[in-house]
Amino acid sequence: MTHPNTVKARKTFLLLSGVLIAVLLLSSWADVGRLTGKLLLYARVAELYFEPPDTELLMPIKEVKTRQIANNWHVPRAGDRLHEGQDIFAAKDTPIFSATVGYILRIGENDLGGHTVSVVGAGGRIYYYAHLDSYAPEIAEGDHVDTETVLGYVGTTGNAKGGSPHLHFGVYTRQGAIDPLPLLKDRAK
Ligand SMILES: [Zn+2]
Repeated sequence: MTHPNTVKARKTFLLLSGVLIAVLLLSSWADVGRLTGKLLLYARVAELYFEPPDTELLMPIKEVKTRQIANNWHVPRAGDRLHEGQDIFAAKDTPIFSATVGYILRIGENDLGGHTVSVVGAGGRIYYYAHLDSYAPEIAEGDHVDTETVLGYVGTTGNAKGGSPHLHFGVYTRQGAIDPLPLLKDRAK
């Protein structure tokens, strides 16, 4: 039986070899920098996959308490869809903090979610923040985040257009979406 640390070391070695080969194959230093950054991010995310997933998530909106969330997990939605997350209502432009430590996987727009940010955390879980009015100006894909990092501001983008401003918060395991509510914990004070 192989000790997990040996497996980890082997994986790191393979990733570093990959970086070296990529460096040798490229001519432009700008490309090398960009690629090395990307590979390092993959290595860090790979490392996160080996950690057990967070059992407690901090409320992404500091002013709102968990008991104020009107549970709407798996409420039927148009087109045979189930609501895969929780809606946390707050005034437009209220800051949204990351519920976990992790890395920003994606910042982007889609029809349902509007402006969205996805963060990958321990165990490879993906935390999805949607309907943002705007993104925090300093965030970028690949950034490390903690529970004090502002990801963006509450809005009504995507299919929340015309409704009350809220954050749609989703948690995705490798097997699919799970209800975030039992995991959410109020912020201190
Ligand atoms: Zn929602």
